[in-house]
Amino acid sequence: MPEDIVISIKNLRHSYAEGDGEKEVLHNINLDFKKGEIAIIMGPSGSGKSTLLKLIGAQLTIQSGEIVVDGNSLHGASPAMLRKIRRKIGFIFQSHHLLSSISVLQNVQIPLAFDESQTAESSKLLALEALETVGIASHANKKPAHLSGGQKQRVAIARALIRKPAIVLADEPTASLDEKTGREVVELIKKMSRVLGVTVVLVTHDNRILDIADRSVKLVDGNLLSD
Ligand code: ADP
Ligand code: MG
Repeated sequence: MPEDIVISIKNLRHSYAEGDGEKEVLHNINLDFKKGEIAIIMGPSGSGKSTLLKLIGAQLTIQSGEIVVDGNSLHGASPAMLRKIRRKIGFIFQSHHLLSSISVLQNVQIPLAFDESQTAESSKLLALEALETVGIASHANKKPAHLSGGQKQRVAIARALIRKPAIVLADEPTASLDEKTGREVVELIKKMSRVLGVTVVLVTHDNRILDIADRSVKLVDGNLLSD
């Protein structure tokens, strides 16, 4: 694998059980992502975008084909290896997935909860730093319910970045936001990617944000159309 390729997908197929048989929803996908690039995967609803992202993020088991993430093969990987790979990846979802009963600061600290190299104090400092980077440190002690949609998505970005991942996978991060706020959120994701050198794979059916990407590919009915 060339050095600058961070994610390499080869002959990837994926099926879900349907009735007595199965339905293939990704057909022979071949795709590489380079270090530090922002790539957008476009495609209508049901085309297989989330499935592809979950496979890259080691959230779904690979059935056929191969994905190599940062030099580690996912196919047949041991649970320990999968945990190691997942630690290199930050996720941003369509809805922010914040826990409502704890503060913004505590939400951002969640990915560090099982990190034995962190103390309570160092974890808090890292979370504050991440919140500063996304411009909402002043809301650290609020509950998520007291934030706007755009602010919540900023918290989700801070949470995705707190472990300084090599890769951020974003699944329709603007889908629940108005156009202006959505724009601000993707601009922020882009800024973070440039500053931290993070590879971003962003899945969307919103073609208004295409211009933030270095590259875009299209997925239709489980087939990759253009690169
Ligand atoms: P997208 O994110 O582009 O909307 P998905 O990857 O979510 O597409 O879904 C692709 C296809 O796989 C759809 O037909 C969907 O209904 C089907 N699918 C997704 N998840 C499951 C599942 N857990 N079980 C069965 N079918 C699924
Ligand atoms: Mg989806």
